[in-house]
Amino acid sequence: MKLLIVEDEAKTGEYLRQGLSEAGFIVDLSHNGLDGHHLAMTGDYDLLILDVMLPDIDGWQILQSLREAGKEVTVLYLTARESIDDRVKGLELGADDYLVKPFVFAELLARVRTLLRRSANPATELSLSIADLELDLARHRARRGNKRIHLTAKEFSLLELLVRRQGEVLPRSLIASQVWDMNFDSDTNVIDVAIRRLRGKIDDNFELKLIQTVRGMGYMIDLPDEEA
Ligand code: CA
Repeated sequence: MKLLIVEDEAKTGEYLRQGLSEAGFIVDLSHNGLDGHHLAMTGDYDLLILDVMLPDIDGWQILQSLREAGKEVTVLYLTARESIDDRVKGLELGADDYLVKPFVFAELLARVRTLLRRSANPATELSLSIADLELDLARHRARRGNKRIHLTAKEFSLLELLVRRQGEVLPRSLIASQVWDMNFDSDTNVIDVAIRRLRGKIDDNFELKLIQTVRGMGYMIDLPDEEA
């Protein structure tokens, strides 16, 4: 999947480029509107991340021009302005989603994935599951059996990552980069604390435990071995 970021703030742009690259995307970054517009018109991108406030031509103009040229590429725009008008304007111009700055990387990543899924295959992947645990990706809800489980956004992202890659041991560093907006030093226990909280919600009251600790490696979600 190939993404284009148009963002004039060097630090933000670089941060996004790095994070999305680490998440497995091929990423181009443009620091101004005109270059970004040119790349978007000529390149073959699966998704555009478009800052609204740019020094030359703004995000609206880029989006409008793309749509007028019949470019159907999926667009997520970033806006520092929080007025309803801006959001409506972007969506009217044909943006697929927006995110208000400042945002956390995990949320951006989740939006990007949702948008790409939606554009790739509109009818599928609305949910993920393992055993009786089910995640409703559109509404960010989780349940085990018929019991609704209340999760914070961060907990949901963490659980989504684990379920999406079920059966795979995920190192703490990978969890940190994908769920949090920064890399943690290996000695911090933020991930362990988050996993403990998540376990308290999805495993403690259920006989079948899904989250597994793989000593010295990390965490995974999986069905226990058949024989017991
Ligand atoms: Ca800007």
